[in-house]
Amino acid sequence: MEENKKLVTILVPAYNEQDVLNMLYDRLKTIMDKLSKYNFEVLFVNDGSKDDTLKIMKDLRKIDNRICYLNLSRNYGKETAMIAGLDYSKGDCVIIIDADLQDPPELIPQMLEYWEQGYDDVYAKRKSRKGESFLKKFTSKMYYKMLQSVTNIEIQKDTGDFRLLDRRCVEALKSIRESQRYTKGLFSWIGYNKKEILFDRDPRAAGQTKWNYGKLINLSIDGLTSFTTAPLRWAAVIGILVSLAGFIYMLGIIFKTLFYGVDVPGYSSTMVVILFLGGIQLIFLGVIGEYLGRTFNESKQRPIYFVDRYNDEKETNERLNKN
Ligand code: UDP
Ligand code: MG
Repeated sequence: MEENKKLVTILVPAYNEQDVLNMLYDRLKTIMDKLSKYNFEVLFVNDGSKDDTLKIMKDLRKIDNRICYLNLSRNYGKETAMIAGLDYSKGDCVIIIDADLQDPPELIPQMLEYWEQGYDDVYAKRKSRKGESFLKKFTSKMYYKMLQSVTNIEIQKDTGDFRLLDRRCVEALKSIRESQRYTKGLFSWIGYNKKEILFDRDPRAAGQTKWNYGKLINLSIDGLTSFTTAPLRWAAVIGILVSLAGFIYMLGIIFKTLFYGVDVPGYSSTMVVILFLGGIQLIFLGVIGEYLGRTFNESKQRPIYFVDRYNDEKETNERLNKN
């Protein structure tokens, strides 16, 4: 590695990506070789893959010393794999990129240019989303709209985790040790100088997406509850409105009973009120439970992840003793 050149870390979280890693490496290599102005470090984070992903990483490290790998002790999910990678990155800036080539590495030179101009967070925004279903696009659009409406922080639409982060953004993200991370929100939350570039998102080059609607719903709820306490406010407001309506209804009943006598048949109205209020109460108990659960998880203060190996045994021990 040459001194006095800036070091750029390319961070690749990977879970069962044996089909694409070599392809990814080839594309990255072309770009890294062209950009001789910089030193590069490619940091693969193996997020507990069950296939040969780790072996491919090790083999790649043998042929190219710019390659580093971090093997986590199990599958933690992409959010955690990313913070692990940030913790172990050495670069003056870090570029986070998906392993499946949905994020074209060819954008990296442009990102670096903006970085040189002084931007701290250069993120890639999708112009189009090829290979994604209408339902996925639609639900994601509605979700962002809703999230934006409840928070003052600007949420970046159609933006994934593909971005360049200056060292100071990386340090900022590293200092946030939440275990249920919603990184997309954190990128906005830390602030700094942001710049967007537009690109066409390709379909995944090979292998399977790890997302399904279950995971997406979980991530959405995590996003909402880690970003804002607005749902608790909604609960309070709806509670007030319902009590107000109840109070007016009560006045009506008292008036009716006093002046027109007791009116026994009232079964359907009673049932409707009980069921409706019961439903609302259960929903908001759930909402409160979400926040309580988050508090519970964070209050345990567990380490976010455990590392099995970083490069070789020597470096693993060095790092583990340091931390
Ligand atoms: N990923 C990970 N851990 C997981 C799931 C995914 O590190 O538990 C990585 C995966 O290898 C890929 C990136 O996160 O590099 C995005 O995953 P995927 O392509 O499955 O998501 P999508 O692009 O469909 O949103
Ligand atoms: Mg993908």
